[in-house]
Amino acid sequence: MHEFKYKNNQLYCEAVRIADITQKVSTPFYLYSYATLLDHYRKLVKAFSSIKPLVCYSMKANSNLSICRALVKAGSGLDIVSGGELYKALLAGCSPKKIVYASVGKTEEEIRRAVAREILFFNVESLPELELINKVAKDIGKAASVALRINPDVEPGTHTYITTGKLTNKFGIDFDAAYKIIQNRAKFSSLNFKGLHIHIGSQIIQAGPYVLAIKKMASFITKLKKELIGIEYLNIGGGLGIIYAQEKPQTAEEFSRKVLPILKNTGLKIILEPGRFIVGNAGILVTKVLYLKKTPLKNFVIVDAGMNDLIRPSLYGAYHEILPLRRTQDAGRRTNKVDVVGPICESGDFFAKDRRLPEVKEGDYLSIMGAGAYGFSMASNYNCRLKPAEVMVKGDKFYIVRKRDSYLDLVRKDIIPGFLK
Ligand code: PLP
Repeated sequence: MHEFKYKNNQLYCEAVRIADITQKVSTPFYLYSYATLLDHYRKLVKAFSSIKPLVCYSMKANSNLSICRALVKAGSGLDIVSGGELYKALLAGCSPKKIVYASVGKTEEEIRRAVAREILFFNVESLPELELINKVAKDIGKAASVALRINPDVEPGTHTYITTGKLTNKFGIDFDAAYKIIQNRAKFSSLNFKGLHIHIGSQIIQAGPYVLAIKKMASFITKLKKELIGIEYLNIGGGLGIIYAQEKPQTAEEFSRKVLPILKNTGLKIILEPGRFIVGNAGILVTKVLYLKKTPLKNFVIVDAGMNDLIRPSLYGAYHEILPLRRTQDAGRRTNKVDVVGPICESGDFFAKDRRLPEVKEGDYLSIMGAGAYGFSMASNYNCRLKPAEVMVKGDKFYIVRKRDSYLDLVRKDIIPGFLK
């Protein structure tokens, strides 16, 4: 469900006609619906209300300050993976007591800052990392809280690049190693072992892999309890899938119905770390058709957005629905197959291949749907392109929540050494 809908053949975001925004903001730009964002967050909170979990929105999906702030104001915590995300999480007004920090490669400096701010806990991904956090905490003179990220060796049935809970992946610690660490926890005198964590992958549309992973965790917790080890939290990660094309992902309700009984049995406080589920369908990328180009074999629709703005199709072969901002009378009549491509000097720069779209003309605007997650957060300045603006709609008003880059932004940090002057 989302708030991008046609009224009188014009695509609206909530109560704003998107074509009106294109008169004020140059394309390409990301457009977010505040109501959709909050609706997804609240659906998850409601589905799990019987156990009152802490939902820590995963900032990597979209770390725009206004997106984070909107969720924090609604009660969300944040899942972070870098010093930069910690900095933005605090700026967004998140209490450190609602911040959890994963990543296989936390640097000493990043760890120091997070220990100093007394975050809820680190999701620790290896023994050497655990040793470093202990050392840093001792140096600072503060205890640090940790959760061990377990790699449960479960197949989530998603793209291999976003599969994270198999033993061939770099993430987490296997059960045996984790058990030994917990048995020897007295060695880590500056650490509080507060929890256990899993995150098995992203865009997972079935509850099955979660059920399997959580059951494995439940047995592990039972084994630990025999050792009288008091772990307070079980963080079940993010990964809930959304609709991009014809997928039928589990709803929050269906998901909770499957996993709640197992979670309740653990007796632990539960943390969820969704990113895509909350923001994915709350955002679109608006782009303009620059040229129609016909070659002996292909019809190209060349648009002003590129893979630097939204890399998912190039990176994962991901599908995004593409809709015109203005539907014409014969919208139902699909054209010949077209490739929708950007201006970048790579053949991998595309948004759709061999897609039947309604007839489009040069100067028309298109909306690339489901672009709220892993869209702007993965954007770059490749080809010296300006990162797009981000706009948020709330009701009948829109707000620029990040300005488009300027040319000055492209060179601000370059330094020409004296010998070249
Ligand atoms: N938690 C962790 C540790 C992750 O690595 C990720 C994504 O990579 C997420 C949560 C969020 O995943 P998703 O956006 O699929 O919910």
